[in-house]
Amino acid sequence: MKIHHLNCGTCCPVGGKLFDGYSSGLSAHLVCHCLLIETNDGLILIDTGYGTQDNRRPRERLSDFFLALNRPRLLPQETALAQVRALGFRPEDVRHIVVTHLDFDHAGGIEDFPNARIHVTAREKEVADQRRGGVFVSRKRYRPQQWDTVANWSLYPLGGGERWFGFDAVRGLEGLPPEILLVPLAGHTWGHAGIAVQEDDGRWLFYAGDAYFHHGEVSAQRHCPPGLAGYQRLMQVDAEARRVNQRRVRALALDHGDSVRLFCAHDRTEFDAFARA
Ligand SMILES: [Zn+2]
Repeated sequence: MKIHHLNCGTCCPVGGKLFDGYSSGLSAHLVCHCLLIETNDGLILIDTGYGTQDNRRPRERLSDFFLALNRPRLLPQETALAQVRALGFRPEDVRHIVVTHLDFDHAGGIEDFPNARIHVTAREKEVADQRRGGVFVSRKRYRPQQWDTVANWSLYPLGGGERWFGFDAVRGLEGLPPEILLVPLAGHTWGHAGIAVQEDDGRWLFYAGDAYFHHGEVSAQRHCPPGLAGYQRLMQVDAEARRVNQRRVRALALDHGDSVRLFCAHDRTEFDAFARA
């Protein structure tokens, strides 16, 4: 398996360093870190960032609230579709899309790949279709217009499954190689999950999605800039579950850093390190 790290959406919320911990100037800089995995059976996309339709019709596809708060740049060359093409593939080569959850900044590119089967937890699909999850943000975070033309879904329960590095209910995915696992991590949304991918050398990559937002949260000296801490509180549906799951992700980073390399969706420092390598 060959793994590409893609940034499928740069966001520039106001707040600079106070928001993201590193940007000089007024704007912060967040990424939408996605993976494109080449297998013998075609391409697998892990999360999709913003898609071509979000770029063309942002006011119809996204909420005014999050457009104003996150200030996505919506650059055509940052869509997963443009990056798949730039790597020499066709959109129909993407056979599977696994999404950590269905927030607007993770599901926007789904409809750019009409041949793909979408994998997500059943709970996430249910609350996203009903636009539940958080009092104020629920109708704004989930945008069913981003997936309403999709027919091929594989939905997974939050219970059952196997153990993996201290996590429960971990399972493989229909039609995907056994090296790719879905790891339920509720808290940010009800059906949020991380994705583990075993690399050819036996080590694991663990994509924690929005279980944390800043690399400092999973480091020995735990820290998070105030902007990202506030954003996570705004978006969480279950504070206790999010806290417990973030603690487990941090334990994974600290106790198994030699066999598992992890990253989250929006940290630019992590993305730059993986993209350079
Ligand atoms: Zn997100």
